[in-house]
Amino acid sequence: MDYLVRGLARNGKVGFFIANTKEIVNQAYEFHRTTPTASAALGRLLTAGAIMGRMLKNDAKITIRINGGGSLGTLMVDANSNGEVRGFVSNPEATLPLKENGKLDVGGAVGTNGFISVIKDLGIKENFSSQSQLQTGEIGDDLSYYFLVSEQIPSIVGLGVLVDVDYSIKASGGFIIQLHPGHDEDDVKYLEDLASKYTSVTDLMDKYKPEEIAKLMFGDDVTFTKQDLKFHCPCSKERFIHALSTIATSDIKEMIEEDHGCDIVCQFCSKEYHLDESDLYKSLELRNNK
Ligand SMILES: [Zn+2]
Repeated sequence: MDYLVRGLARNGKVGFFIANTKEIVNQAYEFHRTTPTASAALGRLLTAGAIMGRMLKNDAKITIRINGGGSLGTLMVDANSNGEVRGFVSNPEATLPLKENGKLDVGGAVGTNGFISVIKDLGIKENFSSQSQLQTGEIGDDLSYYFLVSEQIPSIVGLGVLVDVDYSIKASGGFIIQLHPGHDEDDVKYLEDLASKYTSVTDLMDKYKPEEIAKLMFGDDVTFTKQDLKFHCPCSKERFIHALSTIATSDIKEMIEEDHGCDIVCQFCSKEYHLDESDLYKSLELRNNK
């Protein structure tokens, strides 16, 4: 089971989340058959989403969407405060040549001509929604920028996915480390040093467990709590019948009369559903009752 460790360091002025997401990203690879470039991009966003979901309380949910105009298209991840996360990339087959340093060109495949947008459903009337311009398309940098400009929280975000020769996921994970109110220049310097010391997140995740990374970063006496993370898609036939109530009545009638049903594939987990005529009639009834 994947998990994260979370805690406070430097007298409560620094908060950290460090996650191992190898199983989650491998699950996404199996569902979506992502190329290594797509696995790295989606895996980084799944890692960030899983952590940001755990930052919320009381069954709240978060959706993060990125579209930078690159060949991967749209990346979308949603997660909740219970550690459940799911996601997809609209072009899982997209790929680019490796960069000169031998690394996957995530930034090139995501692109920078667009935004990262975050919607939080906190269970209150209005959703929290905010977006910021993509900086490098590498996702970690883009989220650091998002936290600074949209939430006014100085943060370092390190995300990494190591893809094996057979395209399965060898290692995956990352960290979000944030400065809390009351921090001073020494705390800022400490985070800057961490960011320059741990530039290869994939190396870190391949060699160490999250709790070991916490100790490497903040010393042996650091305290933390551990929380599980997993890929989970709550899709079901009933949910799709409800979702169809947003489609025009005439389109549903056409599906009933001409096709006697319809086939739907869940974007998040690739599960296939067949809705027969009675399911489609049910979706018509639902809208009549609204
Ligand atoms: Zn699903």
